[in-house]
Amino acid sequence: MADRHQDAVDVAANLRAVRERIAGAARESRREAPDVSLIAVSKTHGAERIAPALDAGHRIFGENRVQEAEAKWPPLRQAFPSVELHLIGPLQTNKAKAAVALFDVIQTVDRPKLAGILSDEMSRTGRRRECYVEVNVGEEPRKAGVPPMEADRFIAECRERYQLPVRGVMCIPPFDQEPSPYFALLAKIAERNGLPSISMGMSGDYDIAVAFGATHVRVGTAIFGPREPR
Ligand SMILES: *Cc1c(COP(=O)(O)O)cnc(C)c1O
Repeated sequence: MADRHQDAVDVAANLRAVRERIAGAARESRREAPDVSLIAVSKTHGAERIAPALDAGHRIFGENRVQEAEAKWPPLRQAFPSVELHLIGPLQTNKAKAAVALFDVIQTVDRPKLAGILSDEMSRTGRRRECYVEVNVGEEPRKAGVPPMEADRFIAECRERYQLPVRGVMCIPPFDQEPSPYFALLAKIAERNGLPSISMGMSGDYDIAVAFGATHVRVGTAIFGPREPR
């Protein structure tokens, strides 16, 4: 049953549909579609589900767990060296080394201790990975990210004290609320800190995120189909 269900997902067609919707949202807000990068979020899915996306020419992917990505991506990257991998899930300090080894972009930098360890590891290895600061835009108690009020200070600390290559900001707005004000807030934080990349928008709201200036949308379910519970 599970297999038949999986086979029913047409990843290439879904990718085309998502791209078209991004292009439409970009047009409506007088932006250019190429200014929005589509991150295909492949978490929980195996290589057999990711392969059609690679075969269709897609190269930007997101994973939220270091260990899972370590198990899955090295052979895929060997076959497709131009893959760009984004870490979009919380990063524990004891996984920071592995994250620097594997990911091109680390979107979830959210505390000084982590920033320090990433900085040391990037210096030690010479691997300068782009960093985004995650902002807890809804100020939700159990969510990762720096509170909006502290974002400017933390971004400055990452740049000055830790010399991290900070290129963007990322957020996951509260589930059950209209995301627009949160998207607007994140875009403002990016703008006033001179950060070019804004990562926001998921399967349910990526078109809205584009309207609010997202440069990176993170889309999983709309491309790869529903995820099995872990
Ligand atoms: C899983 C995940 C996504 C993708 O979510 P979908 O609703 O499946 O598109 C985006 N961002 C983060 C941080 C995620 O963990």
